[in-house]
Amino acid sequence: MAIQMVDLNTQYARIQDEINRNIQEVLDSARFIGGPVLERFRQNLAAYLDVKHVITCANGTDALQIALMALDLHPGDEVIVPAHTYVATAEVIALLRLKPVMVDVDRRTMNVTAEIIEAAITPKTKAVVPVHLYGQAADMEAIMRVAEKHGLFVVEDNAQAIGAEVTFSDGTVRKTGTIGHIGTTSFFPSKNLGCYGDGGAIFTDDDVLAQKLQMIANHGQSKKYHHDVIGCNSRLDAIQAAVLDVKLKYLDEYSAARNKVAGAYDAAFAGIDELITPYRAPFSTHVFHQYTLQVQNGKRDALKVHLAEKGIPSMIYYPVPLYKQKAFASYHTGELLPVTEYLSETVLSLPMHTEMTEETLAEIVEGVGGFFELNASR
Ligand SMILES: *Cc1c(COP(=O)(O)O)cnc(C)c1O
Repeated sequence: MAIQMVDLNTQYARIQDEINRNIQEVLDSARFIGGPVLERFRQNLAAYLDVKHVITCANGTDALQIALMALDLHPGDEVIVPAHTYVATAEVIALLRLKPVMVDVDRRTMNVTAEIIEAAITPKTKAVVPVHLYGQAADMEAIMRVAEKHGLFVVEDNAQAIGAEVTFSDGTVRKTGTIGHIGTTSFFPSKNLGCYGDGGAIFTDDDVLAQKLQMIANHGQSKKYHHDVIGCNSRLDAIQAAVLDVKLKYLDEYSAARNKVAGAYDAAFAGIDELITPYRAPFSTHVFHQYTLQVQNGKRDALKVHLAEKGIPSMIYYPVPLYKQKAFASYHTGELLPVTEYLSETVLSLPMHTEMTEETLAEIVEGVGGFFELNASR
């Protein structure tokens, strides 16, 4: 089989019986929306994350939108967001007529930092959306401290880091997505906890916010046919919950498998000066949604072509800074953020999933190594 960025076929083959049994349970019950299987997954996820409330919804973008809707912000309020992220993070801000203030990220974690956030705060700033990109947590302890100092809401975009843990200086350990006022995630099939369609969830420890989030996700409804606020219709269906409830049991195992691949890549690339391998922040674990290299000396695109010729896929997440996207032109101040620019030109993600064989890994490593032997800088 051709090498893939993510191998969902083999993963399914290993858990097929459990998945099929769970889906059959939904089919037999005919409870396709809500129902016992959805409820079981919701409770299991809340227990796994150690968070009080889990509100499931239709996808990770909706999760972000609903989270921001629950904060009662006003048009023109500023929300700080990294410029180096997937479009969804900033899109929902603009969609709600809030102002996305796109900021730079740290070169090592490739995430926003408390210092970067603090420098962007104005009297209109109301919230910040840190993203735990590629599975590496942002420095949440410092970010929460800055947010508290300035009275800002924090919504964690945890679409790429479910299962990652942050250790605070007092020794407390918390999962990403449960540290800010609200956390969101996506269950898109290729995410670390992915379903077989679309799905998402929202997390909070705050009872008042939880009630609001629940209401907004369900047509602003407080009780059947009584609508208190303008909401939306965003649901995780029971068949997806049936898949997720099986995969949740294996999530830590999956994270370990990803780390094993990452460790092997690290060891193989340690001698290649022109590759910067992913940084592991001391304050967190890394769950390697992506294994993302920074390729130096302008060689990224040539490496990508070389790998493709060898049948090895690789991806650029993300090739265009948000402020350079046509849709966000009106939010572009004209300033080019140096690290965001640098990352858009250097990042390259290699195949990363839970089913990587020694043979495939060796092939990829050889492909990368071969490129630098052919293209050695002198
Ligand atoms: C995948 C992703 C989303 C959006 O999730 P969907 O389920 O595709 O809507 C948002 N933010 C980040 C960082 C993502 O990677």
